[in-house]
Amino acid sequence: ELAAIAAAPNANSGAPTIFDKIISKEIPSSIVYEDESVLAFRDISPQAPVHVLVIPKLRDGLTQLGKAEKRHEEILGQLLHAAKIVAEKEGISDGFRVVINSGASACQSVYHLHLHVLGGRQMKWPPG
Ligand code: ADP
Repeated sequence: ELAAIAAAPNANSGAPTIFDKIISKEIPSSIVYEDESVLAFRDISPQAPVHVLVIPKLRDGLTQLGKAEKRHEEILGQLLHAAKIVAEKEGISDGFRVVINSGASACQSVYHLHLHVLGGRQMKWPPG
């Protein structure tokens, strides 16, 4: 058990992530959309002409989608609706992709749930 904890010091530890500092504006970000529940800002390492992250302002234990519980249903819906608003604001309503990486094998690196909204180019399928 100790070995497992040592192997994953950040995942789901509940420790603050860089996104908490983005929410508090301690770290600057390029905000695309914000309301009382969610914040959407440009990804620092864009993988498409439009690459925006949508996150809940209150993490409430939601480190990754794989940890979602019944009480998170409302915020999960708000995040998806915000992704649609972001797509409209960015002019990519005709075609865009929403990605959630949940867990290490999906390449999640920041353990504060976030949706990637990607567009502005032809997407390929399947993703890598
Ligand atoms: P991955 O790092 O494999 O994309 P995630 O799904 O956890 O995994 O995505 C985290 C995202 O956060 C990355 O796309 C990364 O570029 C982005 N990111 C990290 N730090 C910042 C930051 N300070 N401002 C904006 N985006 C950031």
